[in-house]
Amino acid sequence: MTPEATADPHPGHPLPGKLRQVTPYAAVLLCDNPSVMTLEGTNTWILRAPGREEAVVVDPGPKDKKHLKKVAKAAGTVALTLVTHRHADHTAGLKRWEELTRSPIRAFSEKYCINTATPLTGGEVIEVAGLRIEVLHTPGHTADSLSFLVDGAEGEPGALVSGDTILGRGTTVLDASDGTLADYLGSLEALSTVAAGRVLLPGHGPDLPDSGPVVAAYAAHRQDRLQQVRDALADLGLSAADAKPMKVVKHVYRDVDKKAWPAARQSVKVQLAYLAEHG
Ligand SMILES: [Zn+2]
Repeated sequence: MTPEATADPHPGHPLPGKLRQVTPYAAVLLCDNPSVMTLEGTNTWILRAPGREEAVVVDPGPKDKKHLKKVAKAAGTVALTLVTHRHADHTAGLKRWEELTRSPIRAFSEKYCINTATPLTGGEVIEVAGLRIEVLHTPGHTADSLSFLVDGAEGEPGALVSGDTILGRGTTVLDASDGTLADYLGSLEALSTVAAGRVLLPGHGPDLPDSGPVVAAYAAHRQDRLQQVRDALADLGLSAADAKPMKVVKHVYRDVDKKAWPAARQSVKVQLAYLAEHG
């Protein structure tokens, strides 16, 4: 059984709770868990080669029974489930998802691997259900962040499933517990060599027709932000090693709503760590 996507040819994003076909190989079901961090909610990707019954599902999402049930229904037989990274809005539903689908679940971290003992590794190529998926280790948002390159049909563009490494709008917050800016800049560099011409299928926000310019804009934005922090340190007469993150936030983000400061503090903390090491 291959469930039909919504009939509207241009339904756009967001479309919570309804399957939306984005490429011949990929459809999205947006979870109804909007927030400052998740934008309109978590995108659960259902990858299916045309004419095939089995699907590969990326990021079943949070512990939202209604969403998981809808995804399971839309996906049909799930040959494999892939996890982009450990955050709860992508993984908290895994146990329930496994009960619904009995799918093998694979992630970078063994902790989220179910029905299989093999964690994903960067460079691995998965061939399943008529799909060819290359695994890229793209740390920075978290240490365990993965991206997936999904081949399209002959003559059609492939896709980049980017998790939270690249979002469909705005920028991603680096998780200071194990995300580093050095890792993230390295991941953007690696993605820049493969992104051009690939449809962007992000963990949050709208899909975009070409990942190339998005990756380039993300890299440029990070360099601009680093320069802002360098300038703030110069203004404040502080070194990256000594500066308190909130002091820098108050200087750089003085014109920005205070509600954004805690997230900005996390970003600035990561930037200060980078500048203390790399200048
Ligand atoms: Zn995340």
